[in-house]
Amino acid sequence: MEAASHWETIRKSAPDGDAANLADYEKACADFDWRNAGAELTGLPGGGLNIAHEAVGRHVADGRGERLALRWLGKDASAQDFTYADLDRLSNRFAGVLRRHGVPAGARVFCLLGRVPALYLAALGTWKAGCVFSPLFSAFGPEPVRARMEIGEAAVLVTNEAFYRRKVMAWRDALPSLRLVLLAGGLSADAPPGITDLDAALAEAEDAFDIARTRPADVALIHFTSGTTGRPKGAVHVHQAVVAHHATGKLVLDLRPQEVFWCTADPGWVTGTSYGIIAPLTIGAAMIVDESEFEAERWYRILEEQRVTVWYTAPTAIRMMMKVGTEVVRKYDTSALRLMASVGEPLNPEAVVWGLEAFGKPFHDNWWQTETGGIMIANFPAMDIKPGSMGRPVPGVLAGIVRREGDVVTELSEPMAVGELALRPGWPSMFRGYLHEDERYRKCFAGGWYLTGDLAMRDADGYYWFVGRADDVIKSAGHLIGPFEVESALMEHPAVAEAGVIGVPDPVAGEAVKAFVALKRGFAPSEQLRRDILGQARKRLGRAVAPRDLDFRADLPRTRSGKIMRRLLKARELGLPEGDLSTLEGEPS
Ligand code: AMP
Repeated sequence: MEAASHWETIRKSAPDGDAANLADYEKACADFDWRNAGAELTGLPGGGLNIAHEAVGRHVADGRGERLALRWLGKDASAQDFTYADLDRLSNRFAGVLRRHGVPAGARVFCLLGRVPALYLAALGTWKAGCVFSPLFSAFGPEPVRARMEIGEAAVLVTNEAFYRRKVMAWRDALPSLRLVLLAGGLSADAPPGITDLDAALAEAEDAFDIARTRPADVALIHFTSGTTGRPKGAVHVHQAVVAHHATGKLVLDLRPQEVFWCTADPGWVTGTSYGIIAPLTIGAAMIVDESEFEAERWYRILEEQRVTVWYTAPTAIRMMMKVGTEVVRKYDTSALRLMASVGEPLNPEAVVWGLEAFGKPFHDNWWQTETGGIMIANFPAMDIKPGSMGRPVPGVLAGIVRREGDVVTELSEPMAVGELALRPGWPSMFRGYLHEDERYRKCFAGGWYLTGDLAMRDADGYYWFVGRADDVIKSAGHLIGPFEVESALMEHPAVAEAGVIGVPDPVAGEAVKAFVALKRGFAPSEQLRRDILGQARKRLGRAVAPRDLDFRADLPRTRSGKIMRRLLKARELGLPEGDLSTLEGEPS
């Protein structure tokens, strides 16, 4: 292949580059050593490492407690400011609540909340208590919530009354590990039994807390992600990950103390935790958190009024802004912005360039995934951008394009060869396992590489270009969706005999979830049944995961071993070549 894109390279001017945390990419790579990357992090007084101490306690101890740490913008016009000292004190209280209820170190604290202050206190307080934080996306329905809390053997759930009633109450008794449910945001007069009022408990708790002496290799976080088969995977991350969050926050997002930083990702997903909580706080920046969903003018108003300097968002949101048009952006003063970055799905070159047109600066794409815990490949502020490319590896990260055949992995060094994107293990935020699935974890590694499951190419200048997923996982609006989880929910409908789920291209969300269903004997396809199956799936899975569209089929293509061939469903749906059908049931081999 010749060039990956006909788009013109965006050259970075020297003054911009000189001012950046990373001014010279080659030099930064040559000088970098993970052992020094955490030099600004102090560790716990007396030994140990705890994310919460690095995020808030350290700043307070160093006399920076009065700085703004979090400005929360409510759905209504309300706003609330938290200094570093406030976050430190209130998260101490949260940790105190856990301790008072006898929650032991290592216990898993799940959080099912929108972007409200209680979520941030819960995350920091959980780490302070030596417990493990696991955030869930608030748009999950009861099934995804239940599956993740079962796999994670949740001991504590932090949520609100409405979510508890809708998504948890019906099955709570079937999860014996769950010993404490903390409800934030007040309770109704007829609050359900067996819950604790978090606001009241926080009001009674003490400001001081003796932080747990966690070690770098102690588990801090479980982030759930999806694969092609089986249940969701709980990726395990340790306190040491904070070193990578801090370093990449500086090198890629160019964060500095007192920056006004807005990460639009929800903490229910890994970006919203690594860069929506940990990285900016360890650097001492002020974070903007908006409770609302996307709305273009609201977002521009936030950029203007809050004087946001660094903005980290996602391709789906950028495409929605593009639809609204450039003129709307120009009504607002976004001149405080000095860096815009994007992650989570392919960022089309048009979107990178639209940034220039609308905001006077390009969007900087970067790549990583739940398992890597932090940014791995990026367009750095001081580096030329090739629109459509994910950029180059973060200093300290060794990437390659490989072909895997069994346990044999061959590196493809020729420019623009398509292969699997692989990384040499060893960066601090690398996941340390999938909960209860050692074999699945082991299979991610071969020949000294971590294999990412993404197909990519590298050009002669060392820039990486995303090609696609190597598996059947769906990326919709930046959220990774496992087809198996959706198929299982569809199968629960009394009319459904079998189900296959794929991602189909969507101009805004990247991909949309589409289901194919074969009915049981005695049921006939109808619009009413279609709506009923979709409606039930949405109720069980929630809007983040449920299929948007559904087609009936007399039967679904299966391999001889009985697996539904999603690849073939997709090829037929999109009119693509059907490829190798030798394993298809009923086809000549
Ligand atoms: P998640 O684990 O949910 O963060 O999803 C990670 C996956 O999202 C990656 O393995 C890619 O398939 C996709 N992804 C993330 N960032 C990018 C990007 N900049 N370009 C293309 N795909 C991306």
